[in-house]
Amino acid sequence: MSTAARRAIERVAHSIHRRGLTHGRTGNLAVRDGDHVLLTPTGVSLADIEADQLSVVALDGTHIEGPKPTKEAFLHVAMLRVRPDLNAVVHTHSVYAAAVSCLADVDPDAPIPPLTAYYGMRVGALRMLPYFAPGDPAATSAVEEAARVTHALLLRNHGPVVAGVDLDSAVDALEELEHTAQLFFVTRGLATAPLTPAQLHAFAAPSERSPS
Ligand SMILES: [Zn+2]
Repeated sequence: MSTAARRAIERVAHSIHRRGLTHGRTGNLAVRDGDHVLLTPTGVSLADIEADQLSVVALDGTHIEGPKPTKEAFLHVAMLRVRPDLNAVVHTHSVYAAAVSCLADVDPDAPIPPLTAYYGMRVGALRMLPYFAPGDPAATSAVEEAARVTHALLLRNHGPVVAGVDLDSAVDALEELEHTAQLFFVTRGLATAPLTPAQLHAFAAPSERSPS
């Protein structure tokens, strides 16, 4: 498992960087590996991630081995702690999703309208968290609380944190979120026809369906 997970992180990190979803040394990935979590290290561009140079942390965030983990490790372990059904987390500062997180007039429970079926399938419910200064421990409990309801979070004035059953599905969801955020800006000020709640309900994972 560990070798496959390490290779998946390297492959996906390079792919995310190649497709312009990160800049500089931003963005980080995590994959559950038994009782531990494999994480991208601090201070390394996703373009330069290597499978044998990953951080290993416990689910409480304690550094076990390898290089020092990303400073945003707490986001990843918080999601994986409260979602045993999910095994991977991706966080970026991708431009359009980050731009939504900076808008003043946004509903935290629906920051982006569900404009496409793929958004409904892969993202579903997106929840925006309040602003937290880097390193603020209060962010951990906010992430835990929101992750119980949805696998797709948007940190205010920051960027998306998306979990999935595996790394590929987490990245698919993050990319769909970024794409829909771009559609949102392209259509802003125009009359749009987002999917209806009934249309969205058909896509929701059983654990994330609101009672009907
Ligand atoms: Zn970040």
